[in-house]
Amino acid sequence: MIEKVAVIGAGTMGRGIAFATALKGIPVNLQDINQTSLDQSKAYIKEQFETAIKLGKITEEEAADNFEKVRYTTNLEEAAKDVDLVIEAVLELMDLKIEIFKKLDEITPPHAILATNTSTMSPTEIAAATNRPDQCLALHFFNPVPKMKLIEVIRGLETSDETMEKALIFGRQIGKECVEINEFPGFATSRMNCLIGNEAMYMVMEGVGSVEDIDKAIKLGLNHPMGPLELADLVGLDTRLRNMEYLHKTLGEKFRPCPLLVKYVKAGRLGRKTGKGFYDYTKK
Ligand code: NAD
Repeated sequence: MIEKVAVIGAGTMGRGIAFATALKGIPVNLQDINQTSLDQSKAYIKEQFETAIKLGKITEEEAADNFEKVRYTTNLEEAAKDVDLVIEAVLELMDLKIEIFKKLDEITPPHAILATNTSTMSPTEIAAATNRPDQCLALHFFNPVPKMKLIEVIRGLETSDETMEKALIFGRQIGKECVEINEFPGFATSRMNCLIGNEAMYMVMEGVGSVEDIDKAIKLGLNHPMGPLELADLVGLDTRLRNMEYLHKTLGEKFRPCPLLVKYVKAGRLGRKTGKGFYDYTKK
């Protein structure tokens, strides 16, 4: 059983993972180098507990207790020194993930499992930076974490059966469904999702339809719960671009990022988090 968790990176995903863990009463240390991200995470986690009370998922007393189980810090060592599981959710940059895993390997107790929430990248490559590749894997959560049921549990080359088993148990502890996936760039979900999103962006660029109509067509015609463009805005266009660049590098031409995506990121239109992406959220 996992009794204490550290989440590294308190952005879109890290704060959601910290909430989902604390909701089930598991203590979490949430770490980020940016104090603003931590402050925003605290406000987000408070809001999510309030929603959970309204939805009858938790009592008011439990919510108050579990809210206190999240600790916020800018200090990596303080966050990771006494936990059973670390989930890294920093930017989708291989060098940064490797640097953090190296440090985590030195700081964490020998039994701790080190997981990355990467959407596309190789947990084997990240694990190779540590002295415990058998205790490393990817736990790929989905956005928004409180609502999304799935975790893709990705086995790297050296990941042991015991680590996979513990990760699957953790998934059940926090009430998620898990699928076991063997490592390949983009896993089962991201390689598919990135292609759909990229195609939708080409359709906007080619003038096939408006952003609204393309999303509506995919939702009502293909029965997707969200349109691919509103989903890309939710993910963050910078994060999506990094995903596409990695998949382009590893899987080839069909993953070349749409030029419109590149242009939006250059302009700082990163989606919901900056108020503007394919949609303008400042008007709503
Ligand atoms: P984000 O940009 O919202 O947040 C990243 C956070 O990492 C920021 O708060 C930043 O300050 C912090 N950070 C940067 N360097 C750091 C360091 N050295 N130490 C600690 N914190 C640091 O990114 P995100 O969308 O939450 O994505 C995080 C990871 O999750 C990426 O690997 C991404 O591919 C993956 N992911 C994203 C989504 C999504 O929909 N956004 C879904 C699944 C997986």
